Amino acid sequence: MDGEYEIEVSVPFPRDSDGFIRRECPHCMRQFKWHDGPASEEAERHAPPATYNCPLCGQPAAVDSWSTAEQVDLAQQTAMPQFMEMVQDDLEAMFRGVKGMTYTRGVDEVPDQSEPLTESDDMVIVASPCHSFEPVKVPDDHTGPLYCLVCGSAFAV
Ligand SMILES: [Zn+2]
Ligand SMILES: [Zn+2]
Repeated sequence: MDGEYEIEVSVPFPRDSDGFIRRECPHCMRQFKWHDGPASEEAERHAPPATYNCPLCGQPAAVDSWSTAEQVDLAQQTAMPQFMEMVQDDLEAMFRGVKGMTYTRGVDEVPDQSEPLTESDDMVIVASPCHSFEPVKVPDDHTGPLYCLVCGSAFAV
């Protein structure tokens, strides 16, 4: 046994009724939303960028670094039962080779998961003039310039 566990879990993050997912900037820690998947046929024609730019502070970060704390929790909760299962399979296999010892699989170790995450319909939709096919939602009390999610150019609304 090599002790390595690979878990692939796809977590369905909740979208609001316009199809937007809440995101949190790893630089300024403020929240906005981006559209889940291509927002239009034009968006589908463009390859998704390797990094996105925060609409609020303009800093770039990799695509997978925008999860909110709630989404990280959800991902961990979703992965945990699968992880426990794999660990127990290994333990059983180990004990099977030991004379006079048995391993009894525990039950109910993973508590039932809490209520699913939901997404409220807050924030306002804005689209940058340069990449208008990638709209974002920003807090409606935001003032000052915004930055294009795709290229980071500043724009005013
Ligand atoms: Zn930011
Ligand atoms: Zn742009």
